[in-house]
Amino acid sequence: MKFSTDSDLFDTLRKVFGFREFRPNQEQIVRAILETRDVFAVMPTGGGKSLCYQLPAVLLPGTCMVISPLISLMKDQVDGARANGIRAAFLNSSLDPEDRDAVMQQLLSNSLDLLYVAPERFTLEAFKKMLSRVNISMAVIDEAHCISEWGHDFRPDYLSLSALVTLFPDLPVAAFTATATHLVQQNILDKLALRNPLIVRASFDRPNLSYDIRFKDKVDAQLVILLKKNAGKAGIIYRTSRKSVDDTAAMLKAKGFRALPYHAGLSDHDRKRNQEAFIRDEVDVIVATIAFGMGIDKSNIRFVIHADLPKSIENYYQETGRAGRDGEAAHCTLLFSPGDISKLRFFIDTMTDETERKRSLDALSKVVSFASTSICRRRSLLDYFGEHYQHDNCGSCDICLGAREQVDCTRDAQMLLSAIVRTEERFGATHIVDIVLGSNTQKIRDFGHDRLKTYGIGKGRSKKYWRQLLDELLAQKVIEKSEGLYPTLFLLPKAVSILKNEESIEIVKVFEKSKEKEHFKTLKVSGTPCDQELFELLRVLRKEIASEQGIPPYMVFSDPSLHQMASIYPRTSDTMLTVTGVGEVKLERFGRQFLRLIERYCTDHPERAA
Ligand code: ADP
Ligand code: ZN
Repeated sequence: MKFSTDSDLFDTLRKVFGFREFRPNQEQIVRAILETRDVFAVMPTGGGKSLCYQLPAVLLPGTCMVISPLISLMKDQVDGARANGIRAAFLNSSLDPEDRDAVMQQLLSNSLDLLYVAPERFTLEAFKKMLSRVNISMAVIDEAHCISEWGHDFRPDYLSLSALVTLFPDLPVAAFTATATHLVQQNILDKLALRNPLIVRASFDRPNLSYDIRFKDKVDAQLVILLKKNAGKAGIIYRTSRKSVDDTAAMLKAKGFRALPYHAGLSDHDRKRNQEAFIRDEVDVIVATIAFGMGIDKSNIRFVIHADLPKSIENYYQETGRAGRDGEAAHCTLLFSPGDISKLRFFIDTMTDETERKRSLDALSKVVSFASTSICRRRSLLDYFGEHYQHDNCGSCDICLGAREQVDCTRDAQMLLSAIVRTEERFGATHIVDIVLGSNTQKIRDFGHDRLKTYGIGKGRSKKYWRQLLDELLAQKVIEKSEGLYPTLFLLPKAVSILKNEESIEIVKVFEKSKEKEHFKTLKVSGTPCDQELFELLRVLRKEIASEQGIPPYMVFSDPSLHQMASIYPRTSDTMLTVTGVGEVKLERFGRQFLRLIERYCTDHPERAA
């Protein structure tokens, strides 16, 4: 047996992957698998899921079979594993018969650590039969949420995977996903019938991402400012329509930025070419509709800009989630304009399916509330996934950094709350706002609400203001909306404290244009401190090697690896091995060229490396 002791575990982590320590949850998962226990793990993007099965795959005798839904990703996953010296291959419909036979040969001769296969293989009897003739060590289901009809990406092929536990009665089956609500999680567990699995739900928090929401004013000019601040870094700009993608990409190109468009209206060939150019660091920026991103493993995306309002919080989380997979700082900026709301609403109104229409409207109102309230963005996002954020200040969103001007509006809040109380918590938002504004509506006359003390008390302010404040009260959990077709508003304990002047409430000035220009200039883009000049040289070398080898640059060495090299100036193989992500095989394959470059650099700049 290849695996024997604890030291094997850490030796392999270091020698094969070049890592000194495990990320949260990794060790627990790896140990469970090595003890042949089933595993179900929800870990966010960048959490390091691949290591959880690749490490056991190296240690256990036989081949670890990974079922993965995206053919386009398999090649990348295999290339990435091979770069670390892991014997990996894939089997899918894109292979010609000769290559397929070669992979089968490797499998039968027990010379593969990892085999990636598409789920439809499991519907083929011949494939299942063949499995009985080879030595399998474990089965892994990547993107396990695809098995659930309740998830957002159901794939019927995945249903055949429920046969895995019967196919491999004595082997561990491990399922991984980055997105699963509790409901979807239970659904996956039921479908796969995992046997007393270790269940891991990691936090959805992405601490290395910072969130920033800005008032969208002159979007082109704002994008130019943002790109200048992120010069030379890789990023995605999301836009809603194909036309705005094309226009923005053309505008950026004309201004000298290296940017390319990506949307479903482009030919397959162009789409593929543009995506490749981005993955291979040949352009910095991809301007895209939401068609872009699925199946992108690029780890060094340093910023994501939403130039239009995303469709839902889930979309926003996933789209921003593509940044900073490598764990280094990355920035997410959302340019928010109330005008976008009506555009999206107009589009939603054209939907014929009533349930779908309601769902979309609900999703939209949650995004609007997310963007326009003064609650820590991280807290709001985590809250959406049912997770409570432990800290008061996240230190890396526009709200927590105090980038937004706050105004006290306790008195105004009291007016709204008092209107709710005086109408016995029996009415919805529109009516309450109408009362405070002193509107002359049929409903107000019918109920005699023009005789209330709060009637017309807030005449001096616009309807929009009262609506924003009311949304804020909902978001800050001062009031709550009942379920059902005609939701009514009712008070939560915090409302009572506000009415008694025991607590105050503040909101951000989101909609004030005049201040926005100043505010925009305050945006700071932090990088990892290191010798920038050396880092740039290392990046150039990395790109050269990557094109020679036909793999994306981040697979040669990640950004964290280059940053570390550019701050500790390794000049021997031993020091090079202490750099994160530098394992023995990568040292052997690429290390010498990097060492030579650093050596030369130190000779030219003796003062820096001293
Ligand atoms: P996921 O599939 O969960 O999105 P990946 O497996 O792609 O995440 O890993 C994300 C990044 O984190 C990769 O660049 C990987 O090399 C790195 N990584 C994984 N585990 C560790 C670790 N223990 N220490 C340092 N970096 C790690
Ligand atoms: Zn925050």
